[in-house]
Amino acid sequence: MACLPQELLLKRRAEILHALCSGGSVEHLERVIDMLLAQGELGWEDCQNVLVPGRALYSNARQLLDLVYTKGADSCELFFNAVKQVLPEALGDAFFLSGCHSTLDYKEKPQRTSTEELLTQRPDLVLKLQGCIDGALRVLVESGHFSSTDCDGIQLPIYTPSQQARRLLDHVRSKGESASLVVLQYVQQSLESESSLEQTNPKFVKYQKKLRSSVSAQSRFLSTYGGTSHMPLDDIYTEVQMELPNNSADNYKSMGFEEIIGPVGSVNDDADTVLASGEAGSGKSTWLQRLHLLWSQGKALQDFLLLFPFSCRRLNSEQRDLSVQELLFQHCCWPDRGQEEIFQFILDHPHLVLFTFDGLDELKQSFADEHRICCPSQRAPVDVLLFNLIQGSLMKGVRKVVTSRPEAVGPALKKHLHKEIHLKGFSLSGIDCFVRKHHSDPNEAAKVLESLQANTALLGLCHSPVLCWIVSQCHKELLGCGEGSLQTITDVYLMILQHFFQHHSTVKSAMGVNWLQENLGTVLHLGQLAFEGISNSSYIFSVTDMETCGVTESDICMGFLIQSKDMSLANSKCYEFLHITLQCFLAALFAILSRNTGCSAISKLFELQEMKKKRLRGTCFGACLNSTNIPNIVKEHSTMAETPNLQITATFVSGLLSQRYQKLWVQCSSSVLVEKKTKQAEKCLSKGMQQHFRSIPQPVQGEKKSMHAMPEFVWLIKCIYEMQNSRLAKDAMSKLEAEHLKLTYCNIGPVECTALAYVLQHLKNPVGIQLDNNSVGDVGVEQLLPCMHICNSLYLRNNNITDEGIHKLIDKVIHLQNFQKIALFNNRLTDACTKHFSYLLKTRQNFLSLRLGNNNITAEGAKQLAEGLKFNRSLQYLGLWGNKIGNEGAEALANALQNSESIVWLSLVGNGVGSAGACAMSNIIRNSTSLEELWLTENCITRTGVESLTQALKHNHHVKSVCLAIPLQQQAN
Ligand code: ADP
Repeated sequence: MACLPQELLLKRRAEILHALCSGGSVEHLERVIDMLLAQGELGWEDCQNVLVPGRALYSNARQLLDLVYTKGADSCELFFNAVKQVLPEALGDAFFLSGCHSTLDYKEKPQRTSTEELLTQRPDLVLKLQGCIDGALRVLVESGHFSSTDCDGIQLPIYTPSQQARRLLDHVRSKGESASLVVLQYVQQSLESESSLEQTNPKFVKYQKKLRSSVSAQSRFLSTYGGTSHMPLDDIYTEVQMELPNNSADNYKSMGFEEIIGPVGSVNDDADTVLASGEAGSGKSTWLQRLHLLWSQGKALQDFLLLFPFSCRRLNSEQRDLSVQELLFQHCCWPDRGQEEIFQFILDHPHLVLFTFDGLDELKQSFADEHRICCPSQRAPVDVLLFNLIQGSLMKGVRKVVTSRPEAVGPALKKHLHKEIHLKGFSLSGIDCFVRKHHSDPNEAAKVLESLQANTALLGLCHSPVLCWIVSQCHKELLGCGEGSLQTITDVYLMILQHFFQHHSTVKSAMGVNWLQENLGTVLHLGQLAFEGISNSSYIFSVTDMETCGVTESDICMGFLIQSKDMSLANSKCYEFLHITLQCFLAALFAILSRNTGCSAISKLFELQEMKKKRLRGTCFGACLNSTNIPNIVKEHSTMAETPNLQITATFVSGLLSQRYQKLWVQCSSSVLVEKKTKQAEKCLSKGMQQHFRSIPQPVQGEKKSMHAMPEFVWLIKCIYEMQNSRLAKDAMSKLEAEHLKLTYCNIGPVECTALAYVLQHLKNPVGIQLDNNSVGDVGVEQLLPCMHICNSLYLRNNNITDEGIHKLIDKVIHLQNFQKIALFNNRLTDACTKHFSYLLKTRQNFLSLRLGNNNITAEGAKQLAEGLKFNRSLQYLGLWGNKIGNEGAEALANALQNSESIVWLSLVGNGVGSAGACAMSNIIRNSTSLEELWLTENCITRTGVESLTQALKHNHHVKSVCLAIPLQQQAN
């Protein structure tokens, strides 16, 4: 018997409600409403009455049912029709056959305006816009209809892609006819371009859109700005410096993602994995987030149709064995339809797919090459899958981008890399740019930048993006605390600690001297969580973990923790610290303040890596906690992040135990215990230094005693600096007997230079300091100045130094008689630096060696140098390899050196010198009484030049070699 639609609605009410709401998502209800709106069955006011924010989903659905019931039979019929389209299987065919006409068409209405069209096409438009919200917003902004605030409001991460699409449509409606037209045209255009792929594989296109919008939602905002203030990545992202090892020409320039993934700098064309490495806080995750965002916005890497982003931190909690298909779909984006087809598409088109893995160092297991699998349907533990993906034995041809700290990148991994790039943090102009982006008020930005200029130690710290973020975030504290008072990393982290407490303080006045004591509970709870996490390689915390450490809601509200999206804990909340370095800092505070951590915890933090490796086989760091409250954590594996994190924590411990902070602890812990811990830390540092010194081999006869720094040497130096303990520095240096300190490839940036200078200035005798292949830069050079009086030779090859840095260096060393040699091969020097060297040469008559190879010095620069050389009686070595001095420059130099009694070695290799230059050089051979070697290879000297040199040699008994490799073609001339 036929049943009236209204009756049916009453009869099946429970069933309909269940179908619409049982999934817990508001999506079905909203889609039904879209259709009713499109058909004019519901008005905007009706919608507002149904979709009441904050009200339970079931209540909203009931409200809709009541509404359509009261509107009458036609409404009910249209409602059923809409439900059938949204949930074709949910209510069964019988439901519709029992009397309702499910085929009722939309009411035909003449369409006059774009705004009307926007409404009648709403269901369709919501679907289509989901995958291209970014693009639609872009055209709306470009056409002047939307502001960036409009866009931000629409793209808040709390909204699903379809909700974002609805918000966009609602907003466009309020902007009027021409905005509606822009959207309709945009959708039409993007549909046309997609239609070919859609025709061949519609499910794939749908999936691609879903993936794109989920990647977009995940990457839109920066998480360090916490849950309250949303900072769009687009607004704050600042380019970071990059270095391609073995490609000195491109060092430090910022590269686009296409270039990074492409063939430039490849070391293994068969490999598919690009690694971006950098220290904690150097901006790796943010850089990868930027890659995701640009891809999702259609602005980069569009050759890849699919991008699957993974976080190794989150993958750690996946306990199940998974196949690649499960890994992709369950951890990144679930295909609503056609899983098999989509996966087959991926297998068939690997070159159209990109995987990214953030933070490989945080994976519980170290990279291993042993367990090979190559079948995508085979299930395996996540780490095994991941390593096989990186190696390429699984899903060969899919490009992978991995980020990691350098410590985790061993030879086993290196051999599978297509290329490796190093992220080097912000350049000086990057710092400037970041600060200006961070502060909307230009005056405020200018003040922050001014205070950084006045404190170069702090400026040096700001090369690290995470520190630059803290300094900008705490600008009020920064400007209020007096010039130069922030010197160490610990100073900066204490500032942000105070900042967070101040921010959440109920009393909005300046905090009292007892600010730490007032917040001690929070510090200890979060500190314990952080400490246990560091000792157990945990970076994501469940509610249970938090309860164990006594972390309360109000502790969470302070802002140090953010909610984490851990897939395996989908239904329960979990948290992580804003940044790993903040976790290390809170762990360090706990190590100092907790009465339950003793001195043994301190000494284990300072244990050197080699010794620790031995110890780890037997015991673990967590076991040194002697409290009954704190569980001993027995680790099965040591992760790759463990040592660096312990070292960062130890660095903070050193800083916090500095004399300067002792009075801060008086109210918060046992003074006796803190005193003991301080002594312990000092002892560990002093022992660590001595251990290094003992490893210095005896010099070969005739050579200088040289110490090649082990990686931990720089870390120990940094700890001493953080402690600001000059007695310790002096004591350590009094035991160092080397004449040459080799610190090449030690990842030394400005911060390390500050620490090195602080400690090395106490050396008894002058040494050579070799800092080749680091990232010293101009700020680093400035930081080194305090120890230049004990430096006789400074080697700074390949360090991104400009004329500016040289100016400051020479101003200082001009007065230091010990300083006799400098090597600056492969920096960014131009003619502007040569006037400083010229001055140095004129002034210092015991200066021995100047090497300026592979810079940008031209004839003008050579002329400047020649001015200095004319007055110099001491220089023995002059290297200008790989510049552009040409004949003119060579002639000027020859003129200045022709009667030299000191020059022994001169190199003008690769300088575009022709025969005229060579003829000029002949004069030095002829007249100088000291020259032994002259290098002129890779120039354009012809027979005339060679003959002149040969003639000159006949008159000279000092010269041992003149090197000339003349291209055959030129010889023939
Ligand atoms: P890493 O992954 O190397 O530890 P992150 O990418 O997490 O470092 O950076 C830490 C913080 O520094 C970020 O949350 C952000 O606030 C800031 N930051 C890093 N890189 C940039 C960048 N390129 N532009 C703007 N801010 C950045």
